[in-house]
Amino acid sequence: MTAYDYDLFVIGAGSGGVRAARLAAELGARVGIAEEYRVGGTCVIRGCVPKKLLAYGSRYHQELEGAGAYGWSFGAVQFDWQTLIGNVRREVDRLEGIYTRLLENAGVDLLSTRATLEDPHTLKLADRDAVVTAKTVLVATGGHPHLPDVPGKEHLITSNECFLLDALPASMAIIGAGYIGVEFASIFAGLGVQVTLIYRGEQILRGFDEELRLRLAQGLRKRGIDIRLGAAIASIAKDEAGYQVNFAHGDPVEAGLVMAATGRVPNTVGLGLQQIGIALGWNGHVVVDEFSKSSIDNIYAVGDVTDRVNLTPVAIHEATCFAETVFNDTSTPVNHTFTPTAVFSEPEIATVGLTEEEAREKYRVVDIYKSAFRPLKYTLAKREEQMLIKLVIDAETDKVLGCHVLGPDAAEIVQMAAIAVQLGVTKAQFDATRALHPSVAEEIVTMRHKWEPPTPVAGSDAAA
Ligand code: FAD
Repeated sequence: MTAYDYDLFVIGAGSGGVRAARLAAELGARVGIAEEYRVGGTCVIRGCVPKKLLAYGSRYHQELEGAGAYGWSFGAVQFDWQTLIGNVRREVDRLEGIYTRLLENAGVDLLSTRATLEDPHTLKLADRDAVVTAKTVLVATGGHPHLPDVPGKEHLITSNECFLLDALPASMAIIGAGYIGVEFASIFAGLGVQVTLIYRGEQILRGFDEELRLRLAQGLRKRGIDIRLGAAIASIAKDEAGYQVNFAHGDPVEAGLVMAATGRVPNTVGLGLQQIGIALGWNGHVVVDEFSKSSIDNIYAVGDVTDRVNLTPVAIHEATCFAETVFNDTSTPVNHTFTPTAVFSEPEIATVGLTEEEAREKYRVVDIYKSAFRPLKYTLAKREEQMLIKLVIDAETDKVLGCHVLGPDAAEIVQMAAIAVQLGVTKAQFDATRALHPSVAEEIVTMRHKWEPPTPVAGSDAAA
């Protein structure tokens, strides 16, 4: 029998890698983990956490504006980016320390270097000549931002650099309107930057419920964000005044900085995966089965590097299933259904389950219940914005297939609704739940009337 240095070696100490390493070690395995940048990975260092802190920071201006109606007054409102980003960086450092200690306390060997595979059981560590061997290898290397292939792409920054900015520009163009583009557009606009959000498609946030997409675009425009849809980028140019985004058609956009939020690519290049013959997918992701096993028996992969559902709780779930399956003798397939997700823009949106469009494709009869209303908090401040809560129901079984929310605390509401939706509850069970009054979330259990599409008026276009 070969004696390996480790039972498990994990490449990448991000959300998935840290969880898998820790659980396997707690289950008695000898575990090593290599991290080439910072422990915590994308989520902690340059993703979810610092982004959410910036989103909180970007919302204060609007809160302060509304405070007057509640009797509060302050001196001149000022914002200091150095204070915000400095505090965010300190919090990220603190969290990195916590993640490092979690690994150390579990007895995991943490190696601060890049690891690559020489063969299915042998890893080369960039900071030393020696190799290490492991019975099982877990690839948890995450992904990195993709840059559009246009002339001048070297001028682009990505979400990574947003956390490193020493000063905010007066204006910013953001290319791409997935959740990262939309969130940063909202953050920078909230902090006083003039933002242009550029997207080649017909509407922002592909894949989300159509009605939420439309209402969110309206909400962002109301906050001064210039959204350019159907815009194909031709090039990025730089001059003394700043940058210019040029399009195939139409006027260019001038900006102090240009950010690309045009998707992410799995980190598989240069890892040795091709050499050992592991199966990779269309964009280089590691192809895995429901237990996260790759095409090579002792190599597994979790998280963004597998390009399944690229979210932190999913990477953690996949890592937990992996540790249970391989180190606790309990075959645990991953389950990606009913994963809730949010866009921390202003207004915020959150969603779980099927969109109305997806449900109509899959189910024979779909009922929609929705409520669009002005939150009580906005009334004194005379804010004319509406919140939207929408339920998608399978009319034949009465099961709730999807829940979509736009407005304050959407993410908090949908996280709780996700429990019910995952359990397969019915609309009747939502209705039987007592409301918590006064709250915005109570609408979710008080919608009694099915939404009917407006009847076309005779003589109108719709009736033609
Ligand atoms: P990662 O966390 O990326 O970790 C991979 C680690 O591997 C990295 O630390 C990397 O340095 C290391 N590594 C790579 N190659 C090697 C090597 N050869 N040797 C050693 N180390 C290596 N998700 C949410 O759920 N909610 C959000 O609000 C959210 N916001 C986001 C905002 C932004 C701006 C971004 C970019 C992402 C966001 N995500 C969010 C997605 C989330 O961050 C990822 O899904 C999650 O971090 C994936 O975890 P992972 O373990 O697969 O990879």
